Amino acid sequence: MSTLETFDVVIAGAGPTGLTLANLLGLYGVRTLLLEQNKATVGEPRAVSIDDESLRSLQMVGLAEIALAQMSPGYGSVYLDPKRRPFAAVHPVIEEYGWTKRNAFRQPVLEATLAEGAAARPSVDMRFEAVVSDHVDDGAGVTIKVSQPGRDYEVRAAYFVGCDGGRSRTRRAIGATLGGSSFEEKWLILDTVGTTDPTRETHVFSDPYRPALSLPGPNRTRRYEIRLRPGEDAAEMETEAKARELIAWYGGDPSVEIERRVVYNFQARVADIWRRGRVFLCGDAAHLTPPFAGQGMNAGLRDVSNLAWKLHAVLSGRIGEGLLDTYQIERRDHAWGMIEYAITMGIVISPHHRLRAWATRLLFRAMGLVPTWKDWLVQMKFKPKPRFDAGFLIPGGKLPGTMFPQPRIEVAAGDIRRLDSLLGSGFSALVCAADPGALWNQVGPQVPALFQDAVVGIRPELIAFGPTPFAHPMLRDVTGGTFRAIAPLTQAVVLLRPDRYVAAVLTPENAASLGPLLAKMLDATFAGIAPVMQKAA
Ligand SMILES: Cc1cc2nc3c(=O)[nH]c(=O)nc-3n(C[C@H](O)[C@H](O)[C@H](O)COP(=O)(O)OP(=O)(O)OC[C@H]3O[C@@H](n4cnc5c(N)ncnc54)[C@H](O)[C@@H]3O)c2cc1C
Repeated sequence: MSTLETFDVVIAGAGPTGLTLANLLGLYGVRTLLLEQNKATVGEPRAVSIDDESLRSLQMVGLAEIALAQMSPGYGSVYLDPKRRPFAAVHPVIEEYGWTKRNAFRQPVLEATLAEGAAARPSVDMRFEAVVSDHVDDGAGVTIKVSQPGRDYEVRAAYFVGCDGGRSRTRRAIGATLGGSSFEEKWLILDTVGTTDPTRETHVFSDPYRPALSLPGPNRTRRYEIRLRPGEDAAEMETEAKARELIAWYGGDPSVEIERRVVYNFQARVADIWRRGRVFLCGDAAHLTPPFAGQGMNAGLRDVSNLAWKLHAVLSGRIGEGLLDTYQIERRDHAWGMIEYAITMGIVISPHHRLRAWATRLLFRAMGLVPTWKDWLVQMKFKPKPRFDAGFLIPGGKLPGTMFPQPRIEVAAGDIRRLDSLLGSGFSALVCAADPGALWNQVGPQVPALFQDAVVGIRPELIAFGPTPFAHPMLRDVTGGTFRAIAPLTQAVVLLRPDRYVAAVLTPENAASLGPLLAKMLDATFAGIAPVMQKAA
């Protein structure tokens, strides 16, 4: 009889991806082992910008406010031409998903917060100086080999997740390969502390000679990212003298303390396989992106927000195992879309040719003259939306497969909160109507129990609070965000997955026909829900 320690899920790698996954699994009470080869979480600042979708994931595990207190929230960017004249500005103020879109942070600080969060979860065991050296998936489970100082041992898990970064051992072991674009550029990264430069926005020096970004961080830190010119030697560029010369060239404080000088080789790649049997890839193990859109870590957090609830739903027997096939289907195309978006951003940020740079500036200046185009730019509406068109969803209309917005909602007169804080960590049904009780009477019988972890009624902003015949909490759409989202419908029951993506939208007209499809979705055979089968084939 096996005496191996057993877990539901073992994770390799305690970077932001593995740590967030451990937090999410811990939230669901999944027995999780997190193994990290280093002595502690990362000490070097890498990612510097975290987005609203990631903050929403942190909100789920109760860490958004703690993390946000350590950040500089809601900053923008100013794009400068070679003569340092601004030609475009981005400063989003819309909080569609409940949080500010661009937030400056320090990766080591966030990782420490995530590690504390995971350590506080009783079902999570975290081990440092623990190298995963091998794994074997025998179909019934996965045996993982671990080396810690003074002992080598094996553990057993139902599922194994490789969050082990760009050089992922797990990726190699499952036979996945990185493909994608031939994009490759060398950039010098300079991290400074105690800066006297008060600029609050990112400065983008869109200069074909030597493009660069100067990014303000929390607590008087500042990051410079500077593209190397052809033939420049990385070692020479990393010297302190060169770093000071470059900081001065970009108008920074030349005597500032430089914490780190390192040349990175940025790539744009995505793995062909994200799951083999009981083994999954998440984060940089599955995709590598140039940081122009600040999306590498954010993409990893999207991966684990997608996977965590699925592992829990399958482990607890609530949904059939076929659900796990939807992970790659839902995530891979979107991850690649974000990489393409980063490459496009790179063309604007770091042009290679003077003529193209000039044409880009001309276009941006012209856009600034047309209010809708300016709004598109300033509010970052060019960023690809979080959405997929196949997976654990019933297609139809604009909402299924999209992340539902997170408007502020009125709970009682004057008590206004973020929507998610009223939904818990499971599935939910938003009954949006002037009379949610009447709509629920018509549509509720078709809503599977799975989606009734939380049922809330949401009434339009103009309907006053008052006694209503509805057995669930009644909320008011005080900002109009919910009814804007379901428009042109004026009433609908929106079924949300735990990651706040829309699984289906029911109305009195379609409820009877969607009922049987929803039942199929729960056993995760998906027969008859065409797009899933097409993509899985
Ligand atoms: C200069 C720069 C700027 C960036 N800016 C941004 C930004 O602004 N926004 C953004 O979203 N992203 C940004 N990124 C990307 C971001 O830093 C990465 O995408 C993110 O760190 C990936 O997280 P991860 O957890 O997937 O991998 P990692 O952070 O690489 O973590 C992997 C972990 O796995 C561990 N590990 C590896 N192998 C094993 C093993 N066999 N056993 C046990 N442990 C193992 C490693 O020690 C490591 O701790 C930037 C990156 C760079 C380099």
